[in-house]
Amino acid sequence: MFSLNIWGYLEDKILNSAILTIVVPCFNEEEVLPETVIKLSGILEQLINKEKISKDSKVLFVNDGSQDQTWNLIQKFTEQYKIITGIKFSRNYGHQNALLAGMTVAKDYSDMIITIDADLQDDVNAIPQMVDKYLDGYDVVYGVRNDRQTDTFFKRKTALAFYGVMKKMGVQMVPNSADYRLLSQRAVASLLKYKERNLFLRGMVPLVGYRSTNVYYVRKERFAGKSKYPLKKMVNFAFDGITSFSIAPIHVIFDLGVLIVLVGIVMMGYILIQKILGDVVSGWSSLMISIWVLGGVQLISISVIGEYVGKVFSEVKQRPRYVIEEDDFTKNVEVKKKQ
Ligand code: UDP
Ligand code: MG
Repeated sequence: MFSLNIWGYLEDKILNSAILTIVVPCFNEEEVLPETVIKLSGILEQLINKEKISKDSKVLFVNDGSQDQTWNLIQKFTEQYKIITGIKFSRNYGHQNALLAGMTVAKDYSDMIITIDADLQDDVNAIPQMVDKYLDGYDVVYGVRNDRQTDTFFKRKTALAFYGVMKKMGVQMVPNSADYRLLSQRAVASLLKYKERNLFLRGMVPLVGYRSTNVYYVRKERFAGKSKYPLKKMVNFAFDGITSFSIAPIHVIFDLGVLIVLVGIVMMGYILIQKILGDVVSGWSSLMISIWVLGGVQLISISVIGEYVGKVFSEVKQRPRYVIEEDDFTKNVEVKKKQ
């Protein structure tokens, strides 16, 4: 019995050692879940049969405080299928936290983690391609959508504008990639070192580094159910993305302050000329000068304070200063110690 187990383990290590966990955040997804389970387990079994991944690979559903039957369904599927498993939040904590929790739970158990939405908008057929890229040695594989045909005109335009603004603000992002991606175990480990509370994973992943590549797919309509990202949530998310990554808005305020002071100086000339010419009401000149110059000075002062707040902001995030990919030094020292 024992030797059989050992053999199974060794076989696993040699043949298909890479364990894949697919993390799926779910918030009120009872309508789509049965189909998602069929699709994802189908893909996983296909990969296991082809011996690309270990048979210990799993689909991990993260129930993000759903108020419908989602958790009951997850539990039912967990009993039915060996490869399905789940965790349940005590309440709704949001998509990004659900993704992070799934990765945190699965990290030590998995060689690679794929995150995908529950609604089957992201093409599951890209999963084998992502795994192939992982086996080729990539640590990060982004799922990038080829087109935005299935989005409304409004969503398409706002998304485009958002990527444009983010780029201007110095936030690196892979355009048209959402939270559908593969991360190797070490990439996940590095990502989890980013301790910030305001999560914006699609901006954080590129910061982690390592070899990365893209896999392209066509994004479909939601299979069933309604979007859990109404406009208000989307705007909040975009705002979160900007404010948790960039202090560029503070610099804009500074520039505005300087501009207003300059305008103030020009205005001062104009106001003085008016005064000398004498066609002004008494009190107008001093009032106008005060408004312009003080306005500019105030904006500059606020942005200077903002600079310091920005510094505090980046300190409290306690992001790792670097991630070491390979370390020959320690390796050599340990080899020498053994000799
Ligand atoms: N989601 C979540 N918590 C939330 C909102 C959404 O876990 O508070 C999940 C949702 O179940 C889905 C994914 O996040 O799996 C993306 O949401 P959705 O498809 O509604 O967003 P959209 O594609 O419309 O932007
Ligand atoms: Mg969706």
